[in-house]
Amino acid sequence: MATHPEWIVCQFDLRTQNRERIEMFDALNHHGFAMDLVDKTPTPFYYYDLDVLHSTLEEINRHISGYPFMVHYALKANGNPLILKEIANHGLGADLVSGGEIKAAIQAGFKPQEMNFSGVGKTDWEIRLGLSHDIGCFNVESIPELEVINELAGEMGTTANIAFRVNPDIDAHTHKYITTGTADDKFGINIEMLEPAVNHALQLPNIHLRGLHFHIGSQITQMQPYVMLCQTVNKLLDQFEQRGIRFEIINVGGGLGINYTDPDRHLLPDFETYFNTFKQHLKLRDNQLLHFELGRAIVGECGSLITRVTYVKENRNKKFVIVDAGMTDLIRPALYQAHHEIQNITSRENSREMYDVVGPVCESSDVFAHDCSLPLTRRGDIIAIRSAGAYGESMSSGYNMRSLPQSVFHHCK
Ligand SMILES: *Cc1c(COP(=O)(O)O)cnc(C)c1O
Repeated sequence: MATHPEWIVCQFDLRTQNRERIEMFDALNHHGFAMDLVDKTPTPFYYYDLDVLHSTLEEINRHISGYPFMVHYALKANGNPLILKEIANHGLGADLVSGGEIKAAIQAGFKPQEMNFSGVGKTDWEIRLGLSHDIGCFNVESIPELEVINELAGEMGTTANIAFRVNPDIDAHTHKYITTGTADDKFGINIEMLEPAVNHALQLPNIHLRGLHFHIGSQITQMQPYVMLCQTVNKLLDQFEQRGIRFEIINVGGGLGINYTDPDRHLLPDFETYFNTFKQHLKLRDNQLLHFELGRAIVGECGSLITRVTYVKENRNKKFVIVDAGMTDLIRPALYQAHHEIQNITSRENSREMYDVVGPVCESSDVFAHDCSLPLTRRGDIIAIRSAGAYGESMSSGYNMRSLPQSVFHHCK
């Protein structure tokens, strides 16, 4: 970080799209959080460090430069317009799963030719929207969908670029709700049904088959599932080549995990090992492009959920820290039993206590952490829930008629 930064902070309301510049300040506490800011912004809010995002994007670009690689950002991880703009400015493509995301990506400045549209249930208006922008690729997940895309493209007098999403039947060894590439998942076309699907697509007049797409899951921290994916892809490419079919694009999806237990020492994911895995194991043909679709690994570590302690209460066996953020702001702990580091960023106490850190929502699952060791915590203290940049704000809801969390940025300019 620069020595005399000018921190420009703006407050952004996701729902009204109102952006308000708060003010500039340079006071940062030892966590890098701006304490002035905490006093001025109503909690809870998402705090995004755009410098971390910037470094992450530079690191990605450094590792892919000189290779026929293209990284697409999966917008569903975080659709905040300021984050999208920063990512688009670094030249990444976009991986989209709804018409709303197509619109957001266009607004943020992503190029339509560098957009992929995935999802098992694309509706007609969403397909038409993609066609009207002539997006780079529809990742097609079934034959019925292929036929609808062909028909709509015909009505519009255009051709649809597509790839087949293949289910490679690989277990990514991650949480059962975020594994997507085993034979029983709803995603993709089973590998044994791929050849007839390809033959079918080649005969449709308004379809331009560009490639094959795979996405095996999320929060993947071991390279073994990716090595298996490369082997599966190599075999498929050989088989199709024997029949004279060569694909322009191979898309290996996303899923690279981040470090939720020690974010301060691992602010950037290990992109080197990740991209090396594909450089080593995937046998790309001449003029073939390798696409990636990363979400969590790009935005996960740049965001924290900042919340204020409302009460500290003691029951017979437990001490509870009750904060003003809840599962409506960050649902990952409740939905996936996910772990996030929790830090009390204002306590100056040396003694530590074990607490359950919980939200105010009327659900027993509204718990951020069980048995979490924190410095002695009091009403009014500020808590940072770290590594919350991915699948945090984008999954927030208004349950219990709560407001959506606001977001605050800092950017060293
Ligand atoms: C969600 C998703 C991604 C991104 O997953 P991450 O784990 O956030 O990298 C990529 N591709 C598709 C098709 C997805 O649905």
